[in-house]
Amino acid sequence: MKYILNDNVALRSWWFYPYAYYFRYYNQAKRLTRAEFELLEHCNGTDEIEPSELLEQLIQRKLCRQAEKQERLSDWQKLKECDNFYFPAMKWMITGKCNLNCLHCFNARDNEKLQSQFSLEEAEKFLDEARDCGIDYIQITGGEPFCHPQFMEILKSIYSHGMFVNVINTNGWFISPEILDEIKKIDDAVRFIVSYDGRGYHDMIRGQVGAEKKALEAITAIIEKGFPVVVNAQINRENSGTMLEAAKMLSDMGVGTMRVCRTSESFRCLENMKDAIMPWQEYYDSALELAREYSETGCSMELRFWEFMTLLPDIKAYSFSMIKHSEESYSDDFPICHDFRKTVSVASDGSLYPCMQIASGYVQENRNLGNVKETSLKSCLQKGDYINEAFSTVGDFMKGCSECAECRWRKVCCAGCRALAYTTTGRFDGPDRSKCLFFNGGYIEKAAMMLPGYEEQKL
Ligand code: SF4
Ligand code: SF4
Ligand code: SF4
Repeated sequence: MKYILNDNVALRSWWFYPYAYYFRYYNQAKRLTRAEFELLEHCNGTDEIEPSELLEQLIQRKLCRQAEKQERLSDWQKLKECDNFYFPAMKWMITGKCNLNCLHCFNARDNEKLQSQFSLEEAEKFLDEARDCGIDYIQITGGEPFCHPQFMEILKSIYSHGMFVNVINTNGWFISPEILDEIKKIDDAVRFIVSYDGRGYHDMIRGQVGAEKKALEAITAIIEKGFPVVVNAQINRENSGTMLEAAKMLSDMGVGTMRVCRTSESFRCLENMKDAIMPWQEYYDSALELAREYSETGCSMELRFWEFMTLLPDIKAYSFSMIKHSEESYSDDFPICHDFRKTVSVASDGSLYPCMQIASGYVQENRNLGNVKETSLKSCLQKGDYINEAFSTVGDFMKGCSECAECRWRKVCCAGCRALAYTTTGRFDGPDRSKCLFFNGGYIEKAAMMLPGYEEQKL
């Protein structure tokens, strides 16, 4: 009998991760045993395979199935052996340019002269390398990605390289039914993350009259065309009062998730709207109050507060993003950030970062981990500063930070977020003060009190 991998399954092999399969639309690959991997290698539509218990298990796990006559693997599904460490996902800022002039963002139109972007030629060369490194899943970001004059060419090129786009971040200005139809011809499951900051406020923070109308029209069009959509909202002292109304409206429109992000202390934000920034305690308290009010509306949209909590009205549950492990499961070998180990972030000038949120701190400290316009991505993912950073562990970190090492929360907090450690202490090797406040401030108990009828989802 002949068998074949299921359509959404691909085989991959990286250094220290030699037997893996990749599920389309997941930002990580999963390990296999050598025996499973070798059996799946024969699931190519041409090899004869004897029935066995192992084969049955792989079929049950939806990794393979009986092949139809003449069925063959796509190029994407075929085994790719990568000569570098495991990195299956990438956030890629194709351009730093933007049409809007947000008060809080370095990429604003005012700074256009300072912004770079990937030319089509650079993008093509880079995509060759990314494919060979085993990257499958790409999040496109900016600036505003649709400001790139060759946006559609780059999008098509990602697919012709056998990779795919999971997320497009956008301010919505250039979204139209026609553009969505074009994208749909390439992939109808791309998720859009659209910025929207609240009724009567959006235009002000975005520095553009009509931006709110455009963002809402974009969200409507995306939903009508059947794409999944997440809305990303800034929250600060000036617009916190508008958030409940925005959440109810977006839920009624059919938005799946609203992500509420604290307006943070970027240089431009400190210059333009310093007094609007909520200190962390105010952010947590406002978020909890908003979660409580929202939980009473009967709306079903998921509400996610950046670096704090997620509210899931459908199942009446919530979870905290900073509780990374249980005391029992903790190990010193955990990565300092799980995302560092799987996602490569590439800025529009080619600089490589372990995450986009940490980039401004690295720029400020002149910390250079590599540049894909100057060096091959593969060499950056084999050895050097980027790999050292991505592979640092919680145990290594604790050796240099006595405060975290001696903290009663260290096994669940794992030193928090490195980007926020820099924002809150000015040090990459210090504690993340936002997490100290959360754990010592009793927010686990406060949430339980404010959300009666909801259960905390524990690890
Ligand atoms: S729309 Fe996005 S990228 Fe553009 S200036 Fe505003 S925050 Fe920055
Ligand atoms: S960041 Fe704060 S709460 Fe977390 S382990 Fe370090 S000292 Fe403890
Ligand atoms: S450092 Fe912080 S912001 Fe960056 S990926 Fe890790 S948790 Fe997220």
